[in-house]
Amino acid sequence: MRRRTCDALIIGSGPAGLAAAVEARRSGAERVLVIERNPEPGGILPQCIHNGFGVRVFGADLTGPEYAARWIAEAEAAGAEIVTDTMVLALEPGPAAVVVGPKGGLARITAGALVLAMGCRERPRGALAIPGTRPAGVYTAGAAQRLVNVEGYMPGRRFAILGSGDIGMIMARRLTLEGGEVVGMFEILPAVSGLRRNLVQCVRDFDIPLHLCTTVTEVVGAERVEAVITSQVDERWRPIPGTERTWPCDTLLLSVGLIPENELSRMAGVALDERTGGPLVDEGMATSVPGVFAAGNVVHVYDLVDDVTASALRAGRFAAAYARDGAGAPGDAVRVEAGAHVHHVVPQRVHLGRLAEEAIPLQFRVRTPLERAVHAEVRVGGETLLARRQRYVRPSEMVTLSLQPEHAQAIAGADALEVCITVEPDH
Ligand SMILES: Cc1cc2nc3c(=O)[nH]c(=O)nc-3n(C[C@H](O)[C@H](O)[C@H](O)COP(=O)(O)OP(=O)(O)OC[C@H]3O[C@@H](n4cnc5c(N)ncnc54)[C@H](O)[C@@H]3O)c2cc1C
Repeated sequence: MRRRTCDALIIGSGPAGLAAAVEARRSGAERVLVIERNPEPGGILPQCIHNGFGVRVFGADLTGPEYAARWIAEAEAAGAEIVTDTMVLALEPGPAAVVVGPKGGLARITAGALVLAMGCRERPRGALAIPGTRPAGVYTAGAAQRLVNVEGYMPGRRFAILGSGDIGMIMARRLTLEGGEVVGMFEILPAVSGLRRNLVQCVRDFDIPLHLCTTVTEVVGAERVEAVITSQVDERWRPIPGTERTWPCDTLLLSVGLIPENELSRMAGVALDERTGGPLVDEGMATSVPGVFAAGNVVHVYDLVDDVTASALRAGRFAAAYARDGAGAPGDAVRVEAGAHVHHVVPQRVHLGRLAEEAIPLQFRVRTPLERAVHAEVRVGGETLLARRQRYVRPSEMVTLSLQPEHAQAIAGADALEVCITVEPDH
């Protein structure tokens, strides 16, 4: 087995891995190596050919491939090495990674610091337990996105879409533009699960029939999908007898959620948050294992690529510092907990030593939609430290509150901060 060493080893060359590599180099790490299993760098972005990427980071409305191209160019200009067609098979203490690929064969790479940037994957049909005969024509929305946008194939002509995640909504528009027909988008919840922007621009503007509180209960077809049967559901998501409808179609797309890709993180002994499915991290994106950092969708599924990039810039900076002097964060850490109406918060701990020097964003998702007279708050010892009035909060839209250096004194001595949503009385 070949052996290599580097200062910062980054797993994955999506927007998270690329930004982490750029920032690690800028922060003084000499040998920065990015390992990517795909033949090309960029992560999922080469297949996201619609616009809306990079408005905050570059002040420009880019497509996914354009956004990826800018970061690939930056990583190369910064002197990071990107090795494609190479899969990280295992992580070992060190930290070290065992990788394999056609160019370098089997190799063990030992690093001063490691950044996990493996992204997320789509929840498959198996997780949904829909009865049927397993015909051809069932795809995740992301697989269909790759077929249409990268391979140049239409996976069908008449589509039913189960779930209303962002990729499903984006694909409803894309397939319509390509001459396909979307017979319906079926969402079990009373509201769509993706961004409002996509509901307006991809579903409403293209007259895609959207059926809320409805699910697919059966897939019909022997060789190929011939139809799906849907039912409306009650408040406990049970199909309501008598509401069955048959929708002739040849393809079913699943857009039912993304799962952070953390098999390698588990192998490295990194503690995971059961709510996010990703590593527990501090404000510098350090995980529970010294020298192992994480960034992007591997931590929690972000709404916008700009936030993915921001998390990765922090991971790259602090990974470079760790590789240089083995130093972790200064001082004690305070836990950050999810309070009323909040599903999860990232980071899950904050070092006051760092807060004294710079603002720290706390990013969270709520459990249920709430409208009017809603406040997003950070509390310490039951007292409000920071609050912002929101027009609404929705599970599909991440909320950010930033702790400022002047908050450090009020937090000193506390065990935990609580992030919560309060609703004014009478609403
Ligand atoms: C199918 C799909 C479609 C999406 N479409 C959109 C969209 O249209 N618009 C939008 O804003 N967001 C979209 N997203 C969200 C998008 O993924 C994020 O905004 C962003 O790409 C996340 O960046 P990342 O670097 O964390 O992950 P990714 O972009 O997913 O990159 C992770 C990289 O890690 C690599 N990797 C994983 N494991 C290994 C390993 N063991 N060894 C080597 N390499 C490894 C992967 O091959 C991949 O290249 C989509 C997500 C998915 C899953």
